[in-house]
Amino acid sequence: MADKPFSHAGIIRFKGQLMTVVPHQGPCYRCVFKEMPPKDAVPTCKQAGVIGAMGGIIGSLQALEAVKYITGVGDLLVGRLLTFDGLKGEFHTIKLPPRGEGCAVCSDHPTITKLIDYEQAQCEWKPGQK
Ligand SMILES: [Zn+2]
Repeated sequence: MADKPFSHAGIIRFKGQLMTVVPHQGPCYRCVFKEMPPKDAVPTCKQAGVIGAMGGIIGSLQALEAVKYITGVGDLLVGRLLTFDGLKGEFHTIKLPPRGEGCAVCSDHPTITKLIDYEQAQCEWKPGQK
């Protein structure tokens, strides 16, 4: 909605994924994730665990996407979702749906036209906690 590019990523346990959204060039976040999951459908990092190295791997890939965007080189992960299975040491790329088809945000007839605050489970971990 702000017409700003961003890299979206998520990690849980030994799995991670990322994609890059460039407005008007590929699918937006809502094109891919049509509905927010119910509040307690996704475990928090405290419940499921996050491997620190996964944050380093996926975060570095996000930084690389930013460098490629800024410098205009390479192929961004626009329209593709990169997944990494840390247990198997395998990367996969999934082709995402085209931009705008039935999307509540970027289609010709959007139904979501302003930001929405969703109530989601929060990570309960605080620095210094074990
Ligand atoms: Zn969209």
